[in-house]
Amino acid sequence: MFRFRREVYLDNNATTKVSKHVRKKINYVLKYCYGNPSSLYKVARNSAEILEEARYQVAGAIHADFSEIYFTGCATESNNAVLKSVSEHFYPHKKKIIAAPVEHPSIINTLEYLRTQGIQVEYCPVDKNGRVRIDALEKMVDANTFLICCMLANNELGTIQAIPKISHLARQHDALVLSDCVQALGKIPVDVEALGIDYASFSAHKIHGPKGIGALYVKQGRPFTPFIHGGHQEYGMRAGTESLHNIAGFGAACADVKDLLQHAEQIRNLKRHFINEIQKIKPDCLINSPGNDCLPNTVNTTFPGVNNAVFMAMLDYSGIAVSAGSACNTQDDKPSHVLKAIGLSDQAARETIRVSLSSETSEKDICYAIKIIKEYFGGYKPPISMITPAQLNENLLFHEKTYILDIRFWYDRKLLKGLPNSHEAAFIALRKYVNQLPKEKNILVVCQTGYNSPIIAYYLTSKHFEHVSFLLTGLFGWKLAQGELYKKYAGQNIEVLQPEK
Ligand code: PLP
Repeated sequence: MFRFRREVYLDNNATTKVSKHVRKKINYVLKYCYGNPSSLYKVARNSAEILEEARYQVAGAIHADFSEIYFTGCATESNNAVLKSVSEHFYPHKKKIIAAPVEHPSIINTLEYLRTQGIQVEYCPVDKNGRVRIDALEKMVDANTFLICCMLANNELGTIQAIPKISHLARQHDALVLSDCVQALGKIPVDVEALGIDYASFSAHKIHGPKGIGALYVKQGRPFTPFIHGGHQEYGMRAGTESLHNIAGFGAACADVKDLLQHAEQIRNLKRHFINEIQKIKPDCLINSPGNDCLPNTVNTTFPGVNNAVFMAMLDYSGIAVSAGSACNTQDDKPSHVLKAIGLSDQAARETIRVSLSSETSEKDICYAIKIIKEYFGGYKPPISMITPAQLNENLLFHEKTYILDIRFWYDRKLLKGLPNSHEAAFIALRKYVNQLPKEKNILVVCQTGYNSPIIAYYLTSKHFEHVSFLLTGLFGWKLAQGELYKKYAGQNIEVLQPEK
């Protein structure tokens, strides 16, 4: 079994593959429905019909009225729109928003912006699975609170929050509730009425729809002001000619939500099998996702002693896509705020990966992933080696055999200077540089925080480079550990490689 490499996509909380049904709908709209929905003639009326049909489909999937649905560019925009609009409505009469500390960055970073505008932002304590502690929330809500912000399901852990209880509490204090339902839709039933919420955000690309289209639910009568000014689209709330094919694709994906929900049990069983097997393979692994009240598709696991960047790169090399929680092109190397909020140390957060399944995940996919993980923990020797920031001293930096390959994104290069004598190439198109790299040298791959470099190091070994290593924790880690060397040498003698045509 599995003599061959298999492509296994286990990062469905990041995004999902567009379904055939959705693709067909989008293609149809692109081909035939070119009229502007705001115009009056027939081809425009057809477009307007497509637009309103999609609105009905989104509303139907969440038990809302169609008039309560606004299309947006993405869920990030939906969250921004609610937070800014509701704050504008209440401030300075009421000043406080309470949020879960495990919210998506589209909430957290907007709240932090609003804090600079005078809004009082407070984060509610959560338990070890990221669940909001209702007893603590009860103590925090007061007459000054105008909004409570709590996602229905967490993207990193899968934890489902007790939203009806939170809404009940909010109502007792005349506060409103925004719930980010992006990860919940299509995985568990979402009924905005039953949840008792006032605002909710959704995103098509998490439910096998297209990227770049979101929706916002605003309960009838709740305060809401235009957030993109211009024409009268979206009832005057969000101006700009509608992205009709994306909207139609979102509608089609929502029409499939019932089918997606029917797969929940099958997905949950696959997840259980995966958890059972990894617990056998690595008995000290820690499952951070809750056993109950958790999305059927999500499991977040800490593997003590295992660097998640290296683990993820090995899985990627074997065809398996998972998430390690932290991206490489960030301004610093901070571990996930969600994992920190549930009490994981920085070290444990860097030993954690998230696996997220979908209705397209097969038993064979999971068995293949288990086999690869078993091999990894069964003494598999990675073909790449790891250089720690402390090891990267002057000797190694200037050794005649060392060839430093800096694969950072151009905007990361603005934040930190490169290592001396390094060669810059673009991470996303490395195949265009690979023929220029010297096979006889020891190639040290470097990125900003150490998450992209092991992936490229693995890639180079597949291209028959024999001596490949990567810099653990990237340039950020190196600058921290070797501040003096950074000051003395960083940015010197850097060569920008040119891509082959
Ligand atoms: N909220 C949650 C919980 C998410 O997981 C995501 C996407 O990762 C978003 C919001 C943002 O969605 P979008 O990509 O549509 O902006």
